[in-house]
Amino acid sequence: MRLILLGAPGAGKGTQAAYICKRFGIPQISTGDMLRAAVREHTGVGLEVASILENGQLVSDELVNRLVRERFEQADAAAGALLDGFPRTDVQAEALDAILGADGVKVCVNLDVPDALVMARLTSRRVCQECGNIYRESDIEAISQTCSNCGGDVVQRADDLPEAITRRLEAYERDTAPLLSFYERRGLLVRVDGDQDAHDVTAQLLSVLAERGIS
Ligand code: AMP
Repeated sequence: MRLILLGAPGAGKGTQAAYICKRFGIPQISTGDMLRAAVREHTGVGLEVASILENGQLVSDELVNRLVRERFEQADAAAGALLDGFPRTDVQAEALDAILGADGVKVCVNLDVPDALVMARLTSRRVCQECGNIYRESDIEAISQTCSNCGGDVVQRADDLPEAITRRLEAYERDTAPLLSFYERRGLLVRVDGDQDAHDVTAQLLSVLAERGIS
């Protein structure tokens, strides 16, 4: 099974993606995680995109399309995958069709959240630099800056500062929100209310997947 998780930054995609991937035994393909890893490891791609990520802008379609195409060539993604943060533009959605075939995606879930919630969530978000575990600024792990999962450093992402969040929301409205109608026209779109406790979001997500024969 292949599914797409859409939603504004801070909608809870990462949290839900980790759960769904574990539950169904499929890899999470997060272009944001791949790009952040490249920046951390100072690869050629990392050097090219570091300041773009920091500013909250989108990197080029060409680059992320290539990363996703190469990722789907790996054996673990053959049976299924969850796409988190891709596609983000209509060019990327078309590239995904070219990679997987037009009927390659089984369902596209959008996590609906209001902008004010996004701002509150992202400014208080802290992440483990190593494993990506997410914390609130009031969590003990965030205060002590040590991840309870892997011992990595817990930090605030540069693009979780208010000006960058505003730019990410603008990019989402301009480039990504139109994809909702793209997938709706294909009968693939389902909406889940992301403005609730993470466990309730997961329960709703599992139930919409079950309605589509994924359980
Ligand atoms: P995310 O973790 O999904 O919020 O992504 C973090 C940042 O990585 C974004 O603000 C963009 O700069 C970049 N990025 C991630 N995925 C994409 C994509 N599909 N297209 C363009 N830029 C992306």
